[in-house]
Parts: sequence; C-alpha cells; structure tokens
Amino acid sequence: MEMAPPLHFVLVPLLAQGHVIPTVDLARLIAGRGGTRVTVVLTPVNAARNRAALEHARCAGLAVDFAELDFPSAAAGLPEGCESHDMVSDLSHIKLFYDAMWLLAGPLEAYLRALPRRPDCLVADTCNPWTADVARRLGIPRFVFHGPSAFFLLAAHNLAKHGVRDRASGEFELFEVPNFPVRTVVNKAMSLGFFQWPGLETQRRETLDAEATADGFVVNTCAAFESSFIEGYAGALDRKVWAVGPLCLLDSDSETTARRGDRAVMDAGRIISWLDARPPGSVLYVSFGSIARLLPPQVVELAAGLEASERPFVWVAKEGDDLDAGFDTLVQGRGLVIRGWAPQMTILSHPAVGGFLTHCGWNSTLESLSNGVPLLTWPHFADQFLNEKLVVDVLGAGVRVGVKVPSTHVFLDPETPSVQVWADDVVRTVAKLMDDGAEVRAKAMELAAKAREAMSKGGSSDNDLAGMIQHLTELASNEEKDQPVSNTSIVARSKLTKT
Ligand code: UDP
Repeated sequence: MEMAPPLHFVLVPLLAQGHVIPTVDLARLIAGRGGTRVTVVLTPVNAARNRAALEHARCAGLAVDFAELDFPSAAAGLPEGCESHDMVSDLSHIKLFYDAMWLLAGPLEAYLRALPRRPDCLVADTCNPWTADVARRLGIPRFVFHGPSAFFLLAAHNLAKHGVRDRASGEFELFEVPNFPVRTVVNKAMSLGFFQWPGLETQRRETLDAEATADGFVVNTCAAFESSFIEGYAGALDRKVWAVGPLCLLDSDSETTARRGDRAVMDAGRIISWLDARPPGSVLYVSFGSIARLLPPQVVELAAGLEASERPFVWVAKEGDDLDAGFDTLVQGRGLVIRGWAPQMTILSHPAVGGFLTHCGWNSTLESLSNGVPLLTWPHFADQFLNEKLVVDVLGAGVRVGVKVPSTHVFLDPETPSVQVWADDVVRTVAKLMDDGAEVRAKAMELAAKAREAMSKGGSSDNDLAGMIQHLTELASNEEKDQPVSNTSIVARSKLTKT
C-alpha cells in the first residue's frame, strides 16, 4: 500500500512579533507530531528574525520550513523594509501596514498554486481574514489561530453579539459582559479589542466574517488556565476550539531561547550573570512587549518609581524611549536597562526574577505564568485590559498597577492625560507584589506546574493538538485529493467540521 503523504500545514501569521513568535512555536509543535510537515509564510525580515527557531527545529529533524514572500511595503505607501508591526513608528502608518498585509493575498495564492501538491490546511491568524478567500478558492480547509486569551475571545464575542458596547454612552460607562462564566464588569475603553483604530472598520468586519466561515479554531492557552472560557467560546461559535498552549513551553536550547523572536541587543550571558548575582525572586522584570510605547512623561514617572522602589530590576526600554542617560548611572548595580529587543523567555525563566511589570500582552502573560512569575499589570490597549482581569480577578496571579485608560486614548482624545501611572503608584504596587505577594506568587507557581502538565504527553493541550490533527486527517480522507475541488466537497467539509 502506498504511504499517505504527510499532512501539510501552511501557517500564515500576522506580521507582528506577538503573532509570529507563537506561530513559529505552533509550527514546531505540529511538526513534532510526525506525519506532518509545516510551512510558515513570512517575509525576509521576519524570516531572518526567526531563523534560530527554524534551525533548531530542523536540527531536531522536524519538517518545518519558511516560505518567504516579498512584503508589499512600497505598494502600500510604507518605507521600504517596514515588514513588521513594531517597525511602524508613525501611527498614521498603521492602516498602511494592514493594507500591505491585505496585499499579500495575491502572492500567497500564487505560492500555494505553484506547490506540487495542494496543502491540507491553512492556519491563519485571526487578523489575516484575507486568507479566507484564498483558502476557499483553492479548496483548502482553514483554521483560525487566535493569539489572545479565551477570556478575551468570549468576552469580545458576547459583547458584540448582544450589542452591549454600542448601547453604552461614552467610553467609561460600566457594563457587565453577558452570558459570561464569571461576573465581569468593563467599559468600552477597556474592551476595545483589535482593529479599533480609526480607518480599520473594514478589517474589523472582515475578521468577523472570516471567523464565521472558519473550519476550526486554535488557541494559545490551556484548560488549566481557562477551561470555562474555552468551552464557552466553542459553545458560542458552535465550532471546534483546540487549546494547544502555552506554546512558549516548547523545548528549546538556551541559545535558541535567547534569540526568540529576534537577536537580542544585549548578550544573554551578560544578563544571566547579572541575574545570577541577585537573590531568588528579588528582581522585577519590566517590559511592555513589542508594540506598546510609553509617552515621554510616563517614561519619567516609571523611571522615578523604579528608582524609588529600591529593588533590583531589568527594564526593557524601547529605542525611542526618552530615558535620561544619567538614569543608568543612578541605578547602577541595582537596575539593568536593555534598550531594544531583550531575551524575554531567558529572563523570565531565571530564578532571580520574582515579578513582571507587563502590558499584559497574551504571550507575555503566558510566558510569565508558565515560569511561575506573578504579574504587575499595566495594560495599554487591545485585549490587554481583559487579560488583566483574567490574571488578577480570576486566576489570582497578579496585582494591578492601576491604569484605567488605554494609552491610545491620548491620540484619540486630547483630554486624556499622558500619564496613567505615577511614580508613587509604581513604588506602592511594586512593594505590594514583591514584598506582600506571597499569595499571588504561590498561585503563579501552581499555574506554572499545571501549564507544564497540559503540554506534556497526555495533558489537555497535547490531547487537543492530537484532536486537531485527527480532525484534519478526517477532512483530508474525505477529500479526493486529485479531483478538482468542487463546491460539494467544500460543503461536505464544513458539515463535518460541525460534528
Ligand atoms: N519579546 C521579546 N523581547 C522583547 C519584547 C518582546 O522576546 O524585548 C517577545 C515576548 O517574549 C513575547 C512577544 O515578544 O513573546 C510579545 O508578545 P505579547 O503578546 O506579549 O505582546 P505584543 O508585543 O504582541 O503587544
């Protein structure tokens, strides 16, 4: 009997580090199953940034590859080489960046059509709804990959379904999330979600449409963190949802971990030596992910707060942050400032780190919890305020720094103050987490153990991954590969998806 060819997955991330990193992890996870091969669709800049993870996977014998498409920066009016969300420094260029993402539909389709054999599955980031038509035209099943928490996904879904946000008067009127497993009160400003920037209305609508026609959903989370929200989301959509994370727990050697997402600006060995010299659990790690930026007066307050808090810290400042050069000298011996890309997983997994002042991006949240590090939460925008609620109110593994307004409001409403967190807030809440945070620390440690269990053989995430692949195998065996794709086969497939 002829051997069935391996199931070929093509993964299409949004070109932002918070999306590319977990997608590359997902590729390694799927390829690790055997009987599969995985291609991640990137552009030259993004491929170069993630080459270390690819090489690591290939050395381990995994069938993973990158397909590099040229990013149509110039065609969309962006500067040449601007191929990732973090490179969009001018806010007026955000829409252009998404225009360029949308322009990838043609090159992706051409690439897929040129393959000797049609792939078995497209796994596309939820922010890439333009892949829906490509998959439909080629007759390829399409799963949506969700970056954020299931807590956020279900809340956003229910708020939209019941039109709650549309009825609210103003940005700050409080309302309850309907049909939610736990009582959760939010306002418009805190529950914005993605594609909320003016001019992105079409992208928002297309994202919802593409979700409605997806063959299944892959989410970077695990049952131990969010079982009721995962089940609630699957029920609300009446579709398969596979929780296969935390993806950050996938094996990597220390060198690959240190180069996760990009080459770090400071040698990981130097950072590790610095941390080695500090007592266990004593260091606060401060970073706001790849996109969120502090406004200049906010940088001043944070610097003053960290200085006054009198404890060791590692602060990952953005290149444009207006941080006084004298600050490094002022905090010498106690504070390490990294200006640019940092090896975050390397830092968070070091025993000296006892807290993470974070913007609550979902990857950062998972990376912290997976390492048993409690969070000091400072959300900025998108899903981050809802992630904060999950971490602090539901999981009990974090302390709020106290921010109430998304940082982006400053650009939308000139009345919004440019400082959301004062130096005193930093001092007070850092002490609350680092000195009085035994309970949240214990909770974070407990979650870390459960996350590792979920990802190990026979754990909930491992089982969900097996279920996802099994589901696709059934889809593939129901398809006559060599036949031209007909509408009937697509209908048959989407029926099967709902079983
Ligand atoms: N990251 C990193 N070094 C940095 C900044 C970010 O390794 O200096 C990684 C971080 O570990 C995470 C991702 O970039 O995997 C950021 O994703 P997240 O969802 O936390 O936030 P986003 O950048 O999407 O807002």
